[in-house]
Amino acid sequence: MTICTPDYYNAFHCIAGDCPATCCAAGWEIDLDEDSMERYQSTEGEFGEKLCRFIRKDEDFFFFPMEHGACPFLTGKKLCSIYENLGEDAMPVTCQEFPRYFSDCGAYEQRDLSLACPEVARIFYEGPLSFGIRTFEVEDEDGEMFSEDDDYDSEQLLLRWQLIRQRDQLIRDLERRQGDVFARLDAMGLLLPDDETILSSTIAAMEPVNADWTKLSPKLLSLLESGKKEEAVQAFFREPSVNRWMVKSASYLIFRYWLDAFQDNVDTIHETGNADTEPQMRLIARSLEILSLMGAVRLREKGSFSLQDMIDTAVLFSRQIEFDDEIIAALSTSPLLSDTIPDDENDDSLF
Ligand code: SF4
Repeated sequence: MTICTPDYYNAFHCIAGDCPATCCAAGWEIDLDEDSMERYQSTEGEFGEKLCRFIRKDEDFFFFPMEHGACPFLTGKKLCSIYENLGEDAMPVTCQEFPRYFSDCGAYEQRDLSLACPEVARIFYEGPLSFGIRTFEVEDEDGEMFSEDDDYDSEQLLLRWQLIRQRDQLIRDLERRQGDVFARLDAMGLLLPDDETILSSTIAAMEPVNADWTKLSPKLLSLLESGKKEEAVQAFFREPSVNRWMVKSASYLIFRYWLDAFQDNVDTIHETGNADTEPQMRLIARSLEILSLMGAVRLREKGSFSLQDMIDTAVLFSRQIEFDDEIIAALSTSPLLSDTIPDDENDDSLF
């Protein structure tokens, strides 16, 4: 099996109690996998009772709800009481894996780290401009090479190879070009004409993941509607190092989302002959627009924009946007299909 990671993947280690914005209080419910559920339901004593008391069910899914915006098992020292009482392997898989994510394309697996973790964001933005990619082979436990490519024919495997090559070339091309990140994407053909109301209606429809987004969201909408967006974003890009960080953000987004085009196109590639990567292009461009707006609002409030501001901005962006499939779908939508997105007069939340 082929594994692909960014070169900073192994540099990450959770800093637990020293974390400035622990994922245990990010505002997310904690999904519970089957093994964890079985273990919690068979745990005896007071702690076992507490575990069972907090389990909730939503259709076929089990989860721990938030208590005042945090996991009910987060201790006063910002540590996990499941870890403390039962050991690391008793934590839900969601918690053990975060901030890592895995995306499979047959016998090719992309492993990445999410900017929703402030330690990942620190490592990422403090690092060099160049987005290094490591690729290596692993064997199964019996020492046999295994392949999950039997599910795909040669045309589908060629599609995967083309997308991997495109992804890597896009990142290299982005890094070697001059100009701000949007000019670079434009020169690379990755910026498509867009309808700005999609951005504002999507932001307006988002359910805030935490209090920071609740405060920020009306400011983003107000800037979008003020007619001063261009001026504010230009001021943001004039801040030292901002363009460098935004180019890095674009590399992160290309790496994270480009290969999703494999699953989007694998069933239709025989008829179309070409991969449609428009959803990925729109998602990358609109994500950068949102990051720029967030940066512009922060700059207006603080008068300057530091590395820590970039880290905080990326963490909030990722927590609000990247873990919600419906937001990702809305940001990937073509303007021609956007009539499914509510306009400003429609109060019904999409999410
Ligand atoms: S956000 Fe990252 S560093 Fe902080 S507790 Fe979670 S995994 Fe650890």
